[in-house]
Amino acid sequence: MIDFSIPEELAAKAQRVREFVTETVIPYERDPRLTAHGPTDELRNELVGKARDAGLLTVQAPESYGGWGLSHIGQAVIFEAAGWSTLGPIAMNCAAPDEGNMFLLGKITNQEQSERFLRPVIEGHQRSAFAMTEPDGAGSDPSQLKTSATFDGQNFVINGRKWLITGARGAKTWIIMANLEANDHLPEGPTLFLCDGDTEGIVIERIMNTMDRNYAEGHAVVRFDNLTLPREALLGETGQAFRYAQLRLAPARLTHCMRWLGAASRAQDIAVDYARTRTSFGKTIGEHQGVSFMLADNEIALHQCRLTIWHACWMMDNGAKGRHESSMAKSFVSEELFKVTDRCVQVLGGIGISDETPVEMIFRDMRAFRLYDGPTEVHKYAIGRQVLRTPRA
Ligand SMILES: Cc1cc2nc3c(=O)[nH]c(=O)nc-3n(C[C@H](O)[C@H](O)[C@H](O)COP(=O)(O)OP(=O)(O)OC[C@H]3O[C@@H](n4cnc5c(N)ncnc54)[C@H](O)[C@@H]3O)c2cc1C
Repeated sequence: MIDFSIPEELAAKAQRVREFVTETVIPYERDPRLTAHGPTDELRNELVGKARDAGLLTVQAPESYGGWGLSHIGQAVIFEAAGWSTLGPIAMNCAAPDEGNMFLLGKITNQEQSERFLRPVIEGHQRSAFAMTEPDGAGSDPSQLKTSATFDGQNFVINGRKWLITGARGAKTWIIMANLEANDHLPEGPTLFLCDGDTEGIVIERIMNTMDRNYAEGHAVVRFDNLTLPREALLGETGQAFRYAQLRLAPARLTHCMRWLGAASRAQDIAVDYARTRTSFGKTIGEHQGVSFMLADNEIALHQCRLTIWHACWMMDNGAKGRHESSMAKSFVSEELFKVTDRCVQVLGGIGISDETPVEMIFRDMRAFRLYDGPTEVHKYAIGRQVLRTPRA
């Protein structure tokens, strides 16, 4: 049975998160270290320190790692509260790509890898990067993967070029996807590798100029130049990279929805405040039906998005993989929340496009959400294929 009530303990935790974000994190939104390429590591580390002091760091981690051991629904409630500021998830160490990377590493690392590459990320001492997308290869279709790896029985040698790699500069834990060529020792195919970001052969070519600025250190173009890794760098089994990436993507695309729901709700709050006080033609703008309908459409969309997220979470909490549901949620929520934020800009009039309020930043940051972890069209392509395959009741 689906139950929409939030246990008191979880509601109290969400309230704590909301207060932390409001009182401690929001003042940093005007910090000059929040640059066009995202929060610098210095800013990120300061925020992480604040969350650590408040007992709110990496709360999504399993209890064995000091987290709250949240269910998927529990995560939805907490991440929405964290997302009230785009810097909230950065502070609490539940932002992309670290959050998804921690989830994946928690599933497939061995003990040694886990201590070296996962624990420091969970503890907030280092960041991680996930390198899959390529300028001329893997993208919406990962099977176009071009980055290659050879293996001589001792070492892997990786060559290739990636772009849009979030947080690459300064990340210490790297997950790299490359195609293992045929060799005499291990099965070939798309494979994940795990290594230290300081390893020779990882070349950060440049940080890309993008519309968004909510991810630590922005997004980079990266080259692997004869990157040589020992056998221990193998993450899981060879040839299984797409399966592992799916493990990461289904929950990761939902957590994006949760965080952005928080940000869009904040934009709505700001728009409502403005509509209550700003006047035109003899009344508050909120009293004009054209404005009240925009706010009503927002409220309806926020509610629908929350229900869609919670339903997918409920499926996963009940043991389902939830691939289809999380895919539907990602495509619906990313499109709807973008429209919500766009309407908030409209309600705010001219200041909507200025940095007088955070709505402009939320709007620009949210645009990317329709692209990463699967563009809307790719999700619809998968959903459509599933619909056509499944017999109608
Ligand atoms: C802010 C941001 C952060 C990112 N961070 C990372 C990261 O850390 N690591 C990483 O590896 N990647 C990252 N990415 C890359 C992201 O995963 C890709 O952008 C995404 O997978 C789409 O691939 P692409 O950009 O190559 O688009 P393309 O594959 O070139 O697709 C372009 C467009 O074609 C259309 N299209 C493609 N296939 C279909 C289809 N089957 N049906 C209909 N239309 C289709 C869609 O409209 C799509 O937007 C990030 C992207 C963004 C925007």
